[in-house]
Amino acid sequence: MNEYSVKFIGKKIALLTALELVLAFSGLGYLIPYATLMYIPVILAAYFYGVLASGFLGFIFGLTSMWKASVVGVDEFDALFSPFATGAHFESIMLSTGTRILFGIVAGLVFKFIKKIKSHKIILLLVCSVLLQMFHSVIVLLTAVYFFPETGINTAFIMKDIFSLKELIQAIVLCSVMYISYKISISKSFRKFEQILSDGGHAYFTNRFKLEGVAVGTIVFLTNLLLMYNLESTIVKAMRIQNILLDRATYHVYINSSAQFIVGCAALSYIIGLLVVAYRVYSAYRINNSDQDLMTGLHTKAAALEYGKALLQDKSNAYFMIIDIDKFKVINDTFGHIAGDRVIVNVAMYLEKYFLDLGYVARFGGDEFAVFVTKEIDKQSLIERIQNFQKDMLDIPLVAMKVTCSIGVAQIHNEKRFEEVYEKADEMLYQVKSSGRNGYAFNK
Ligand code: GH3
Ligand code: MG
Repeated sequence: MNEYSVKFIGKKIALLTALELVLAFSGLGYLIPYATLMYIPVILAAYFYGVLASGFLGFIFGLTSMWKASVVGVDEFDALFSPFATGAHFESIMLSTGTRILFGIVAGLVFKFIKKIKSHKIILLLVCSVLLQMFHSVIVLLTAVYFFPETGINTAFIMKDIFSLKELIQAIVLCSVMYISYKISISKSFRKFEQILSDGGHAYFTNRFKLEGVAVGTIVFLTNLLLMYNLESTIVKAMRIQNILLDRATYHVYINSSAQFIVGCAALSYIIGLLVVAYRVYSAYRINNSDQDLMTGLHTKAAALEYGKALLQDKSNAYFMIIDIDKFKVINDTFGHIAGDRVIVNVAMYLEKYFLDLGYVARFGGDEFAVFVTKEIDKQSLIERIQNFQKDMLDIPLVAMKVTCSIGVAQIHNEKRFEEVYEKADEMLYQVKSSGRNGYAFNK
């Protein structure tokens, strides 16, 4: 696993954490009355990312349940999860957070073991998920019995709870989520997507993409805040008209719910921002890798232009070269187009031989090629490479005339638009062509 794969897993756990916060504070995690779906991200983390991840997700689950229990007009049982409501700090924290951390760790360990079994993968995944859901209910109820015996929960209550309709509905939802997640995770296109983002993605990641992600996330966040503000001020106005005054406790509930809303919005904005960046990196990769010139195997002009644009965001110190074969029309006219094609393929091979390790090589079309030199190299060494390349090209044995080329080189100096760099290199190429060809020129 390389540095980028580790970072990528970190991002995925952050994504699940954000999902947990959205589920908690949007109420989605508590859609079924007296039940919770909040353990689903914990089980997902346990299956896909291991014990540490699921233990952490369990911790987040615990914290959110503690916070939620401390806020809204919760019923008697739910209030047990809040150290503020019960006053029994240790007991409530153990009930809300301790049990969920334990649940996360157990789930991670169960899947660690189960994943070693190679047959009946889906059945095992679903059965274990349902058993883990039951385990979650049991440890929460047992802990409640142990620390808060006065609530009157007993074994009969626990059994009734575990084999109730709500547990069945939870199990169906859980199994559907796990089944779909598993199918997606093994699908070819998703694996390709993941592989691109974890291994190759970093090469296409630019600050511009990051900026776009941050911008979209921020817009979502601020829009939500405005919507909330608008709704709340309408409610406050209506209450004023009705002469309703909030007492201190209710006012705190109101402030706390608003804070939960803001955290939920921030988590949602993070998810959206991250997806924007992932999609942009994926697209950049696809453009660069599927847009291959069929004849030479080099990148196409479209891919190279995209690459050039991205390069300007990240690097201010690089070279861009345009290479054009001299008198190629004569080669075509004298030796035929098939011979001309072979010359093009050979030039591409020489370009790769001399410049691929320095950066990026593309065919711009016809007999025109381009090279981005992105690796640190001093000008003199680059000139030597160019001269060696031009000397070697003379050996192309396909036609009974020497094949030469002209090269225009632009050094990139903090240009904002790639077109400026392109124009400079083109100007240099024109100079070489007009002063006798078979040479190179750098811009000033
Ligand atoms: P110059 O030194 O000024 O570059 O002269 P040139 O004859 O090379 O002129 P130019 O670069 O404009 O000519 C490119 C020619 O390449 C024109 C076109 O017929 C030919 N060509 C374009 N694509 C292909 C191809 O895929 N195969 C072959 N064989 N010829 C091509
Ligand atoms: Mg030419």
